[in-house]
Amino acid sequence: MNATMMPYPLTLTHILERSGKLFPKTAIVSRMPDRSLQRHTYDDFYRHARALAEGLIRLGLVRGDRVATLMLNHYFHLGAYFGIPAAGGVVHTLNLRLAPMDLSFIENHAGDRFLTVDDVLLPLYEKMRAGTKFERVIVVPLTGQPVAKEFVDCEALLRESVNDLTYPDLDEREGAAMCYTSGTTGVPKGVLYSHRALVLHSLAMLFADCAALAERDVILPVVPMFHANAWGLPFAAPLVGARLVFPGPHLDPESLLDLAEQERVTIAAGVPTVMMGIADAVEKYAGRWKLLPGLRLMVGGAAPPEALIRRLDKHGIRLVHAWGMTEATPLATWCNPMPQMECWDADAKYEVRSRQGRPLPFVDLRGVGAEGEVPWDGKTPGELQLRGPWIASSYFNSPDEQSKWSDDGWFRTGDVATIDPDGYVRIRDRSKDIIKSGGEWISSVDLENALMAHPAVAEAAVIAVFHPKWQERPLAVVVLREGVTATAQELRELLADRFARWQIPNAFVFVQEIPHTSTGKMFKAQLRERFKDLSADAESHFACRCLDTMA
Ligand code: ADP
Repeated sequence: MNATMMPYPLTLTHILERSGKLFPKTAIVSRMPDRSLQRHTYDDFYRHARALAEGLIRLGLVRGDRVATLMLNHYFHLGAYFGIPAAGGVVHTLNLRLAPMDLSFIENHAGDRFLTVDDVLLPLYEKMRAGTKFERVIVVPLTGQPVAKEFVDCEALLRESVNDLTYPDLDEREGAAMCYTSGTTGVPKGVLYSHRALVLHSLAMLFADCAALAERDVILPVVPMFHANAWGLPFAAPLVGARLVFPGPHLDPESLLDLAEQERVTIAAGVPTVMMGIADAVEKYAGRWKLLPGLRLMVGGAAPPEALIRRLDKHGIRLVHAWGMTEATPLATWCNPMPQMECWDADAKYEVRSRQGRPLPFVDLRGVGAEGEVPWDGKTPGELQLRGPWIASSYFNSPDEQSKWSDDGWFRTGDVATIDPDGYVRIRDRSKDIIKSGGEWISSVDLENALMAHPAVAEAAVIAVFHPKWQERPLAVVVLREGVTATAQELRELLADRFARWQIPNAFVFVQEIPHTSTGKMFKAQLRERFKDLSADAESHFACRCLDTMA
């Protein structure tokens, strides 16, 4: 066979080299725990990541070793994102909101050899320490306090490097990063990302019909760097030379908006709950922040209610919607209205924007029902299944966990969706959240979306509760905004316009707060447990009472 192109590997070291050569002066800004802003450049980052790689090799890292990070979103974590793979290792981001026991389970399962930890997170490390087997613990002295002798001081490790790193001869299929699912629906499972997957995923983020990331962008990843690679932003930004602005531990809406204003942020990313906080703040303090016109908020992880998209639009902030998962590096779809939709009326356009979007190039998707593949008719629900170069082919160190892959090799997402003829996906539920009433399926996501359009509703979750006749019936758990009220009857009437009678929740309960998972999603499993003894017909008894005060 004739030779075709060069066998040039798609590795993260190319991105690192490119950022150092082409964007040396571009800024990376990090908010530190003491609220001060630290400024670095891509030149600093380039040297830092290479020095870290050298240091890790001196400590004994060998190809394929996992190096865990227990770190906030900042410049030093970005250095680990690239320095560890540049040494031939795998950067394994640990979810610092998990319980210490879960963290030690994950560390053991992943077989991490080293840990890099922010000094401010040492108390958390101490809690998980007994169950872990790290050979060396590298401490990043964010506070400037001296590092205890039992640990490796990251600054000292970097200082000892002499800039003589030769990258290992990396294969693009080797592991470069690793992340465990946050365990919303089961035991956390590890996904090992190849260099190739991360590079291709980064390139996909540059498409105009995806995140359209470019050198002129200023990116604020609010999504934690332990949550599915911070949705790919830390890998894609150095590829194009976009400025990065990291929030550190200061994730309250006002701090984020201050940062966005001050650093002229063009795109920020986070889950709906974070963005609801942003919407509340811009409404409460109208005119306080002079944000860049056209600021985009990339939202995923859970479905943003359509009402949120509308609220933000009023303040010149554009919510852009994406869907993905840990097993998909994470992006699989992105929602942009098609050009011919521009002339649609406002309501129709908002409806499109609340969909999860169309598949990214090289992501194949299909919906599968009991009878096989479902048509792309926007009506027939099926389990969404994926295939592509950045979709996991197995879980790490779990040879028996094959049930998530179909016999013909597609990844079974566990999300129930409809796909319309243009290829727009609409997630209707996670299969574990589905409400089956008398054999008919009710979409909790659709009901939540409608409830959150009520001006008095801050957040709403709809869950299944047992019913002797219908097996399950929907129960709406509602958080009201401060100072306003809505009755169950009002909410029922709101839904009656859009839903069939049998789809409307039997009961509405009003609570102070809906619990969230470690990655900021509504924790429906916990709600189901809490309300499991509540009869779905208990409406009149429970309707207007605050269950939190009854506990
Ligand atoms: P976990 O499975 O532990 O929650 P992930 O963050 O990987 O961890 O979760 C992926 C899941 O999050 C998807 O399968 C889907 O159910 C949900 N999800 C992600 N993005 C969206 C979105 N835009 N709309 C609705 N659901 C979403």
